[in-house]
Amino acid sequence: MTDDRPHLAVIGAGPAGLAATVAAAAHGVRVTLIDSAAQAGGQFYRQPAAELHAGRPQALHHQWRTWERLRDALEEHVKAGHVTHLTDHHVWFVERRSNQQAGAAGRGGPHGTFTVHALLGPAQEDPVEVRADAVLLATGGYEKVLPFPGWTLPGVLTAGGAQAMLKGTLAVSGRTAVVAGTGPLLLPVATGLAAAGVDVAALVESADPKAFVRQARALAAQPGKVAEGAQYAAQLLRHRIKLLTRHVVVEAHGDERLEAVTVAALDTDGRVRPGTARRIACDTLAVGHGMLPHTDLAETLGCRLDGLDVHVDDEQRTDVPGVWAAGETTGIGGAALSLAEGHIAGRSAAARLNGAAPDPRTWATAAKSRTGLREFFAALDTVYTPPAGWTDLVTDATVVCRCEEVTAGAIREALDGLGAGDVRTVKLLTRAGMGWCQGRMCGPAVAGLAGCAPTVSRRPFARPVPLGVLARAGEAEDD
Ligand SMILES: Cc1cc2nc3c(=O)[nH]c(=O)nc-3n(C[C@H](O)[C@H](O)[C@H](O)COP(=O)(O)OP(=O)(O)OC[C@H]3O[C@@H](n4cnc5c(N)ncnc54)[C@H](O)[C@@H]3O)c2cc1C
Repeated sequence: MTDDRPHLAVIGAGPAGLAATVAAAAHGVRVTLIDSAAQAGGQFYRQPAAELHAGRPQALHHQWRTWERLRDALEEHVKAGHVTHLTDHHVWFVERRSNQQAGAAGRGGPHGTFTVHALLGPAQEDPVEVRADAVLLATGGYEKVLPFPGWTLPGVLTAGGAQAMLKGTLAVSGRTAVVAGTGPLLLPVATGLAAAGVDVAALVESADPKAFVRQARALAAQPGKVAEGAQYAAQLLRHRIKLLTRHVVVEAHGDERLEAVTVAALDTDGRVRPGTARRIACDTLAVGHGMLPHTDLAETLGCRLDGLDVHVDDEQRTDVPGVWAAGETTGIGGAALSLAEGHIAGRSAAARLNGAAPDPRTWATAAKSRTGLREFFAALDTVYTPPAGWTDLVTDATVVCRCEEVTAGAIREALDGLGAGDVRTVKLLTRAGMGWCQGRMCGPAVAGLAGCAPTVSRRPFARPVPLGVLARAGEAEDD
């Protein structure tokens, strides 16, 4: 039996992708949901590996009922044949062909034809192609981590990494932790580790509490979020976690692995106040300085970006016909905003693929929540910024690009000695950003050292691809 429903490929099974999948599948669209993880959930609803047989996974989560509702709806749509869920599929490229380019034989839906290229399994070697009439990008974001002396020691990990380890493997990386950096993610990480039995010696946040006061009106407009903040404050108290605001980790110490960190207070200009340094013993440092959107797939499709975020209209459409985007790929804003955007994107895509003009009244509640949460996170963004003087802490011996082992000294030599004026020239002179992660980790740090604003780094593929796969993709094109 042929299935003549329009076909939407949703990339990313986090809150945004799940909400979009459920909304689109419920409105007459066949959906293929593609994600690199072994289970649906994304970062926020990351689930323990099935073989761990976790008795109470909800103990590690917030908003569990929303997850259950999404999970059950997904399962029902899969059973009914409305959704195909591809796990362990790492998308490296999405190709768009307009109907004109495809010719009469390959004619697709109103927006042309899309081919999603993925690599299957943990080894990421076997190629898979999914053809669809439209694509919805819900690839989320990744953490920004700025370097400091000792940050490459075993025992130092990203804040989100510590959280992902806890939620996904039910494991912690040590007994005594310091959680540090800046951003709201530090709160669930510190309280989550403490609830799992880790002694969290301190939460070191560089933001100035006065900055919250300056944004009080915008923040108070989201009482749900204020209540969430109050709950975290209560949990910090309950677990006796010392909160050090306007402080930074100056250095991580240890021979073979992390043994302690030195923290210091910041002055009003964001520079370390002399004489305030003190040492805290710990075997784990969970550190993060905010999040950045994943935009590689959108960029190669030619979607417009606003700064570092994928640009979308009120329906979550990008400026490329047939490409929608939702969640943190369009700007960092937490799981609730991702859910609202995913719902709107799924409804819009379903209507448009079925040839109808969408009715925004059908997503009025989600749109209201989207507006409020975007304003809230814009205000929060001005509070949680890394301290102005963070580059002063990066000694010349500090490794900045971990893949290519390029030190801050080499980068400064390229800037000051060889006249490099931008990130690209630094990369050409030092190899910083040329390794496996293609500058995802070191890009913001190199930009900071060069005194440039972070920019999107145009990468041809979203993942490293074996040459054999590229060659075979070329052969298929030639046939
Ligand atoms: C490591 C980490 C841990 C976090 N933990 C928390 C937390 O505990 N609490 C909290 O409030 N917030 C947390 N966050 C913030 C969190 O990202 C958001 O709140 C929320 O999950 C965003 O939802 P989303 O659907 O936009 O993206 P995500 O939840 O990030 O989902 C994106 C999905 O896309 C998939 N994906 C991305 N690129 C590809 C590709 N090329 N091919 C295939 N699949 C792809 C990913 O595997 C992921 O499943 C965390 C963020 C990170 C990076």
